Amino acid sequence: MKALCWHGKHDVRYDTVPDPIIEHPEDAIIKVSACAICGSDLHLFDGFMPSMKSGDVLGHEFMGEVVETGTEATSLRVGDRVVIPFIITCGQCEQCQRGNFSLCERSNRNAEQAAKMFGHTTAGLFGYSHLTGGYAGGQAEFVRVPYANTTHVQVPSNLSDDQALFLGDIFPTGWQAAMQCDIQPTDTVTIWGAGPVGQMAVRSAMLLGAKQVICIDSVPERLKMASDGGAIPINFEAESVIDRLQSLTQGKGPEKCIDAVGMESHSSSTMESMYDRVKQAVGAETDRPHVLREMIYVYRPGGVLSVPGVYGGLIDKIPFGASMNKGLTWRMGQTHVRRWTDELLQMIVEGRIDPSFVITHHGKLQSGPDLYKTFRDKEDGCIKVVLAP
Ligand code: NAD
Ligand code: ZN
Ligand code: ZN
Repeated sequence: MKALCWHGKHDVRYDTVPDPIIEHPEDAIIKVSACAICGSDLHLFDGFMPSMKSGDVLGHEFMGEVVETGTEATSLRVGDRVVIPFIITCGQCEQCQRGNFSLCERSNRNAEQAAKMFGHTTAGLFGYSHLTGGYAGGQAEFVRVPYANTTHVQVPSNLSDDQALFLGDIFPTGWQAAMQCDIQPTDTVTIWGAGPVGQMAVRSAMLLGAKQVICIDSVPERLKMASDGGAIPINFEAESVIDRLQSLTQGKGPEKCIDAVGMESHSSSTMESMYDRVKQAVGAETDRPHVLREMIYVYRPGGVLSVPGVYGGLIDKIPFGASMNKGLTWRMGQTHVRRWTDELLQMIVEGRIDPSFVITHHGKLQSGPDLYKTFRDKEDGCIKVVLAP
């Protein structure tokens, strides 16, 4: 079959690889009808994730038709149309029983090795390095889905692929980010990052009834999309984020902040001048993570910081004293996709939201290598790419 494979930093290729086969009775094989490129794939593309091997099949946002099932994969049938959550979910372990699906204790077959190396691990993920199980991804014609009984969402026939696809990752991710904020009708919710995850967080915060939603980025098309969704846009290259947030909140700061950027955040002029002041005052160098620092600086004491943005383990310097003194609540994690998919699917069916609004580019799977670059460099107004094998 054909698939998009990782061969190193900035090197994605359209390769021929072996077809997947059933390896375990609970597996299913999916024929992919649509897949997407995620901001998390860019961490692989940019070479930030260790433990990728040349030839690994990429992709964790995909859907399609069931073409084969193992003898114990009894909750889905050949011909079913399904979206696959990017988190592989056994459904049986203690964490899955608690709804903490992204912490599944069984689906990451390399968990022990990852924990030894970095002191932490997650559930098994598709197409996301050998630290998360080394499972082949869904930017391919076919995928093997382990623990298929619980790792799928049935899609009603009246929804298009574009409407349903994002149930596998970015819609639940934006939704969980907003849910973690316990949004009250008096709250200002500020979202750093107007990429696909930030866009879903904006819509989610609006649906959850925030008084005011603000979205920060520097890419005009992305800010326009956020503002079409009801957010007040702030361009961090054109204005001072902190001054603008203060003025939008009567000097108090937003009580709910979402980091939808992650470890590759750019520094803004606001942060640079703050680093200078800190350096002058205490002689200490300060540095990344820029967005978390900006959030901690500006949020209203007693507030919540919700972090869907991905970070790489032990390498970040977090200003913990400021978090402690301001009484901050941190809430974060990989998304517990299956915890949210029933209610989000219902919202799509009822027409309360159509997540396909975020798609700017459609292409064939073979155009994937070019479209990774287009998405990475935000060329041609690119916000979300959907590929068809
Ligand atoms: P993306 O790269 O398309 O979007 C990130 C956006 O942040 C870009 O538009 C960029 O311009 C903006 N940005 C950079 N520096 C900034 C700054 N200082 N202030 C404000 N905005 C800034 O990625 P995406 O697909 O939207 O994903 C966002 C993050 O969410 C990534 O880290 C991704 O890995 C993560 N993610 C997490 C989960 C999860 O389960 N927690 C799931 C999906 C994605
Ligand atoms: Zn993703
Ligand atoms: Zn589990």
